[in-house]
Amino acid sequence: MTSTIPPVRVRYAPSPTGIPHIGNIRTALFDWALARRSGGQFVVRIEDTDRSRYDGEAEKAIFDSLKWLGLDWDEGPDKGGPHAPYTQSERQQMYVDAAAQLVESGHAYYDDTTPEQLHALRERQRAARQPPRYDGRGRHRSPEEIEGSRQAGLPITVRLKVPDHGSVSFEDAIRGKVSFELKEIDDFVILKSDQMPTYHLAHILDDHAMGITHVLRGDDWISSTPRHLMIHKALGIEPPEYVHVPLILGKDRAKLSKRHGATSALEYRDEGYLPEAVFNFLALLGWSPGDDTEVLDRDEIVRRFSIERINDSPATFDLDKLEWMNGVYIRNLDTDGLMGEILPFMERPASEG
Ligand code: GLU
Repeated sequence: MTSTIPPVRVRYAPSPTGIPHIGNIRTALFDWALARRSGGQFVVRIEDTDRSRYDGEAEKAIFDSLKWLGLDWDEGPDKGGPHAPYTQSERQQMYVDAAAQLVESGHAYYDDTTPEQLHALRERQRAARQPPRYDGRGRHRSPEEIEGSRQAGLPITVRLKVPDHGSVSFEDAIRGKVSFELKEIDDFVILKSDQMPTYHLAHILDDHAMGITHVLRGDDWISSTPRHLMIHKALGIEPPEYVHVPLILGKDRAKLSKRHGATSALEYRDEGYLPEAVFNFLALLGWSPGDDTEVLDRDEIVRRFSIERINDSPATFDLDKLEWMNGVYIRNLDTDGLMGEILPFMERPASEG
């Protein structure tokens, strides 16, 4: 029997800076499964505040990957929804206002340290064999000095004030209790000099405004979470549940990369893998249904999905297993289904292979 769980609001928030990595799409799949399992909502938000790295092709690939795997979303840039817009560059004013409010309340400050000065600081720290960190010098700049720099056209950022002692901890749904010492964290930038927010500020404001209950993301974000908790505290808002999902490694235990073969869902599509097989395979990268069953269709994965069964150790991408699983799904097709899958490949120009 399946128990009921309260409806979640989860989001997939990719940065369109490159073709989405298959691990990233696996996280989207977990989001989707959790939303469908609980009768909640799956939101897609495009995090495009790094304008210099924006890539339109990457944005298209994000949506194509979701569509190919049947990960339909309830709210998003194309669909709209109660919290539109769902593209961060269209929400800029909200971030600028929040940063100003944090300065006003004394939680953040304007900083006119130039990139050259930061570089010199890092060089000194390197020479002294100290870890690179911002030294908080902007805390001591007067409003007049900042105004002078502004008039002189120097870049002005906004940084959060991080206390230099104490600790911060949170309960991760997968990792359990995680703690960090605040002295390890410097005053970090929340608004860049181009008036665009950093990821740290933007995603918190958006997750809050969009009523996100659970943040599922790769566990390489864990070390940034204390920063995020500091921002929540400064804004006086409650953080969501954090669910840091395990990374995906190759069979050699190195982080999955091009070296191991195709790293995007669309490459598997183009090589003729069935979306149902890739869906099933990805679902088992870091999650298990609780027994040895390996071939599970979409409905069964949704029915059995739970955060509790996401592993806390890295998943291994085993291409042989994907080959095998794809074979299982192909053999299950009837003749019409098989023809439907094969024809597009036969109609492809020879140059595409
Ligand atoms: N934009 C971030 C990324 O693509 C999102 C991380 C998150 O899910 O919070 O890595």
